[in-house]
Amino acid sequence: MLFQSLTELCEKLSATTKRNQMTENVADFLKILDNEEVEPAVSMLLGRAFPKWDQRTLDVSWATISNVIERLTKTDWKEFSATFKKTGDVGSATQAVFEVNKVHRQAALFEEPLTISEVRKVLEAIAEATGQGARERKERYIESLFGRANPVEAKYLVKILIGEMRTGFHEGLMELAVSKAFSVPLKTVQKATMYTGDIGEVAIICKKQGAQGVSNLSFTIFRPIKPMLAKMAETLDEPLREYGGKAAFEYKLDGARIQIHKLNSEVRIFSRRLTDVTRSLPEVVRQVRQEIAVDKAILEGEVIALGQDGNPLPFQHLMRRFRRVHDINTMLMEVPVKLFLFDALHVNGENLIDFPYLARRQKLKEISGNIPLTEQIITDDVDQAKQFMRKAVDQGHEGLMAKRLDGPYTPGIRGKHWFKIKEILEPLDLVIVAAEYGYGRRHKWLSDYHLAARDEESGSFYMLGKTFKGLTDEEMEDMTQRLLEIAVRQEGHVVFVKPSIVVEVAYNEIQESQTYECGMALRFARITRIREDKSLDEADTIQRVRQIYEKQFEKKSRLNRQQYREG
Ligand code: AMP
Repeated sequence: MLFQSLTELCEKLSATTKRNQMTENVADFLKILDNEEVEPAVSMLLGRAFPKWDQRTLDVSWATISNVIERLTKTDWKEFSATFKKTGDVGSATQAVFEVNKVHRQAALFEEPLTISEVRKVLEAIAEATGQGARERKERYIESLFGRANPVEAKYLVKILIGEMRTGFHEGLMELAVSKAFSVPLKTVQKATMYTGDIGEVAIICKKQGAQGVSNLSFTIFRPIKPMLAKMAETLDEPLREYGGKAAFEYKLDGARIQIHKLNSEVRIFSRRLTDVTRSLPEVVRQVRQEIAVDKAILEGEVIALGQDGNPLPFQHLMRRFRRVHDINTMLMEVPVKLFLFDALHVNGENLIDFPYLARRQKLKEISGNIPLTEQIITDDVDQAKQFMRKAVDQGHEGLMAKRLDGPYTPGIRGKHWFKIKEILEPLDLVIVAAEYGYGRRHKWLSDYHLAARDEESGSFYMLGKTFKGLTDEEMEDMTQRLLEIAVRQEGHVVFVKPSIVVEVAYNEIQESQTYECGMALRFARITRIREDKSLDEADTIQRVRQIYEKQFEKKSRLNRQQYREG
C-alpha cells in the first residue's frame, strides 16, 4: 500500500470531527492492508514510528529535520518560521514550503512513490543509527524519505518523526476502528490492547485469527502495562464515603513509580511512562532478584531517594538517577534509592488484575521477601486516617493514597478505585513579568507565563517558574490583550511586560534551581485565579517563598552543596 493512501486518510481525518465517520474511514483502510502493513499503519496513524511497547526511539532533533527540509526545498529558516506562524503546525508549515518550492524538487517526480513498508524500514534504520556519526546517518535516511515525498506526504512524515499527529484520531477511536474492521467485540479489543500494550499488534491478530485468537492473549513479561491512575480527593472523608465506609490508606511516596518484570533471574524495570530504566537502577534489580521468591512476576512500586539522614530527598534528585545512565556508580553513592512495593499484577502465570485489592496485596506480601510494602492501614475511622496522614507528612511524604478494598487493577484508567490525597500547600500570589506565545492552537496567544516574586529589599522581581496551565481559552485571549498593553519589549517569542498583574499560583513543591537567579523554582505551577483584587505590594515576596522552601527541609532531607554541584 502506498504511503500516499495513508496520508490521504489522515487528511480526511483532520477534516472532520465526526467520530463515526473517522472510525468508518480507518476501518475501511485497515481491511485492505496486507498483513505486514497493519501494525506499521496503525502506529503511524497514531503518530508513532513503532508499536507503543517498543523501546526503540528515533532520537532525531528538530534541527536535523529542518536541515533536511531547508536543503531539499531551498527554504531559509525565516521563510519556514513565517509559514509556521500562520499555521501553528510544523507539519502544515512543511507542506507549505514543499508546495512553494516544487521547482527545486523535480527529482522527486522521477522516484518511485513511497510505500508504508518502506517508510517503516527507514524509520527502523533511523532508530538503529547510534554511536559515532549517528546524526549524519539519521539525516541521510530522513533525506531519503523526504526526497521522494510529495507535500502532503512530507507533512505527515514530519508529524510521525516528531510523534504528534493532531488529526484528532486517538487510540480509543483506533480500538473502535479495529473492532469494526475485523468484527471483534470492542471489549475484547480493549482488553487485548491492555494485555499486549499495543493496538497495532492487536489489529493484526484480529485480522489473522479473529475474536478467538485475540481472547487468548495475556500479559507478556517484559512488555510494560499502562499504570492504573488515581483520582484526586480533597478530603479523607471522600474515599470513605465512596467506598461504603471502609478503605485502605497507604503512604503516598514522592518518588518515581516503577513496574518490575521478573522472569527467572532476568529483571527489567519500566518507568511510569513505560520506558526501560533497568540500567539506571542496578541495586533495585539486584534486590528483586534476591528477594522475590517467584519465577515470573509483574509488580509495582515506588522508588524514593534517600538523604544521608534516611529521610526522603526531594523528587528532583531522584529524577537525576533516571537521566544519568553513564555514571551510575557515582550516582549510586550520591543518591541511594529505596524501593517500596504496592501492587502485584501477575504472579507465576496468574493474572491478578481482576482480583480485589486486598487479595493482590496479600499475594504481594507473600512473595516480597525483605522488600518493604508501602505503609498501610485499613480503617473506617476518619480520625485514624487523619492521624495516618499527619504521620506520612511528618515523615516527609506527599500524603496518602486511598484504595477500595475490593477494587480491581484497572490499567491506564483514572477511576475511583484509587484516590490520592495530598497535603495542601498554600498557593502563592505571584506577578507576571513576561509571557511567551504558545504552539498549535495557542500560537496566537501569550499562553506561557513567567511568574515572579518581589524582593522586599531591592524591589526587583525574581522569576520562580513558568506555567501554561490554569487559564481558560477566553481568559488567555483576554490576558494576551492585557499583556500586550503593558509590554515593554519583545525578544523572539517572549514578550516582557511591566509587572502589574497578580495571579494566584498553586504548586507541588519548591525545588532548588540552577536556572533561576533566586535559586528556587516551583514544581508543577498552575494558575488558580487572576487576583484582580491584589496590587503588586500585596503579592508574595521572595523572602516568603524562601521561608516556605526552607520549611520543606524540616521534614525532607537535602543533598549537601558539594553533591548538588556534581549533579
Ligand atoms: P497519579 O499518578 O497522579 O494518579 O498519582 C498516583 C501516583 O502516586 C502513582 O503514579 C505513584 O507514582 C505514586 N504513589 C506513591 N505512593 C503510592 C502508593 N502507595 N500506591 C500507589 N501509587 C503511589
